[in-house]
Amino acid sequence: MDCIFCRIVRKEAPARMVYEDEAFVAFHDIRPKAPVHVLVVPKAHVEKLSDYPDTEEGEKALGALFRTANRVARSLGLPGYKLTVHVGEEGGQEVFHVHVHVMGWPR
Ligand code: IMP
Repeated sequence: MDCIFCRIVRKEAPARMVYEDEAFVAFHDIRPKAPVHVLVVPKAHVEKLSDYPDTEEGEKALGALFRTANRVARSLGLPGYKLTVHVGEEGGQEVFHVHVHVMGWPR
């Protein structure tokens, strides 16, 4: 499977990494749409947010994703930020590996 975000997770493709733990990575978007624009990406390949099951397990995965996005935004010292998720082609998704955009404006 040739997924660019999986390749970044495996360190086979370059990225300006800002965060990593056992389940997530975060790196700068190559085409930033804000002064700080970072993508928070689960290491496990899931195509899109709507693929998470409507179960406790899905709730846990979603919670962990947004908890990590908050943690990354905090670590970048952003006083305010915008979190965006594109879901599916019709929702503007271009890379089919779940990710949250963290866009911020540092003081
Ligand atoms: P989407 O529309 O939510 O799928 O956004 C995908 C984002 O990934 C876009 O903002 C792209 O600029 C970004 N992107 C695509 N390839 C790379 C890459 O190799 N490194 C970092 N960001 C990327």
